[in-house]
Amino acid sequence: MKTALVIGAGVAGLAASIRLRLKGYAVKVFEANPFPGGKLHAFSNNGFRFDAGPSLFTLPHYVDDLFIAAGKNPRDYFNYSRKEVVCHYFWPDAGVYAMPANRDEFIKTASAFFNENTADLENYLNRNAFKYERTAPLFVERSLHKLNSFTNTETLQGIAAIPKLDLFSTLNDVNSMAFTNPKLVQLFNRYATYNGSSPYKTPGIMSMIPHLEMDLGTYFPEGGMVAITEALFNLAKELGVTFYLNTPVERILYEGKSVKGVLSGDAVYPADVVICNRDVFSAYKTLLPDVPAPEKILKQERSTSGIIFYWGIARLFPELNLHNIFFSKDYKQEFAELFDQKTMPSDPTIYINITSKEEPKDAPSGCENWFVMVNAPANTGQDWDRLILQTRDTVLQKLSKQLNTNIEALIQYESVLEPRSIEMKTASYQGSLYGTASNSRYAAFLRHPNFSNQFSNLFFCGGSVHPGGGIPLCLQSARIVSNLIPSCS
Ligand code: FAD
Repeated sequence: MKTALVIGAGVAGLAASIRLRLKGYAVKVFEANPFPGGKLHAFSNNGFRFDAGPSLFTLPHYVDDLFIAAGKNPRDYFNYSRKEVVCHYFWPDAGVYAMPANRDEFIKTASAFFNENTADLENYLNRNAFKYERTAPLFVERSLHKLNSFTNTETLQGIAAIPKLDLFSTLNDVNSMAFTNPKLVQLFNRYATYNGSSPYKTPGIMSMIPHLEMDLGTYFPEGGMVAITEALFNLAKELGVTFYLNTPVERILYEGKSVKGVLSGDAVYPADVVICNRDVFSAYKTLLPDVPAPEKILKQERSTSGIIFYWGIARLFPELNLHNIFFSKDYKQEFAELFDQKTMPSDPTIYINITSKEEPKDAPSGCENWFVMVNAPANTGQDWDRLILQTRDTVLQKLSKQLNTNIEALIQYESVLEPRSIEMKTASYQGSLYGTASNSRYAAFLRHPNFSNQFSNLFFCGGSVHPGGGIPLCLQSARIVSNLIPSCS
């Protein structure tokens, strides 16, 4: 039996290990942390449970697919429910809009709240769905870097649709053309942050992302987001994948044009195939230091990072939902601060995720577990200690004002995740959440491929390579990798 080694047990590494095992390989996964999941993990403290990283779950069938491929019933491992409300959106001068995750309800309520024409809203959603349907087969389901990806009917249909894909305007241009109310423009501009980009730079094709929420739905996994990690980890173990936790790989070993295995501590682990789930930038720099790296690809602009305050809050807030956004007054300035000045926004948009709304046991009785996140620039050596304190003050002031209560006085538990600790805990270069940003229309083509151009048996999966960051795309990267590797005979 041939051996496949996976470096990193992030969600993509877990998915790749399952797919390679199903192709007949003996699979060993090396994970530097004592737990699997990478960014997708959780912790508990003082009676509060927090999902540490991702909080929004879309396209759950990508998770189900792994169980189905293994001949199992996904529901025996993993359950989730569809949400009726996408998010509660707050503006300091316009109250709250509870955005329904249902296209007809959305059109009705958005038309009333934002005073927009229902036909304009419907056209916008239709165009978003069209963009997704025409481009997902190429951009999300296949390697962008193999010629045969461009010679099938679905891709050719996507290419024929280019004039309608808004590749040559920005997301903000598309949204400003579609709507008159700047608040609705801001709401739809926010989707650029789903892959850590700026709405004033990312191409208009990104307006396909709301289609995922509105038409395909947002979900909450039973047990929290970490249930995704647990289910995949359990499936992989059940299939016979071997995990080496607390075992950082130090080098990928090679001879000529083939990789031969990995080095961890004093031990050499031979391999027929190596799949790297570590951020591709830091993988080249530390695991393959003597190999010429694809510098043009590696120097692409990084996506945003984040500052996350995990707060145990001693009160219930009925006006808040699972997902909540408190918008800034000047969105353009916020993104100029993030991407041009590379500093923390002076008036940041604040995201609060509260899983105890879904699972009351995630917080003590009468309390809520707040995951409070603001976008941050990638870490290029800013004075983070100062910026974190300053951001904490700004966030507390803004939330206290909008929720009409002293939030700081309600904090029973507190910890912080920030760009430096994200980088330290998951080896994500500059602490970026989604690998490279999509701040140009060429970004998708400049992201690192899922295979190595130097070594025939080295592959890459995860948020820093094609098709990009976020759980669904990471799962797809593992699928693309597995399709590039021949079955083990
Ligand atoms: P990672 O999670 O980056 O894990 C890589 C793993 O490799 C780590 O476990 C690391 O320890 C291990 N590793 C690295 N080097 C080595 C080595 N040398 N040897 C062994 N192991 C090694 N996505 C969404 O879909 N929805 C969201 O709402 C969302 N919100 C987010 C919020 C935050 C705060 C963060 C941090 C991320 C968020 N994301 C979200 C992005 C999402 O978490 C990531 O895109 C995804 O989890 C990345 O998975 P990955 O497979 O690339 O690996």
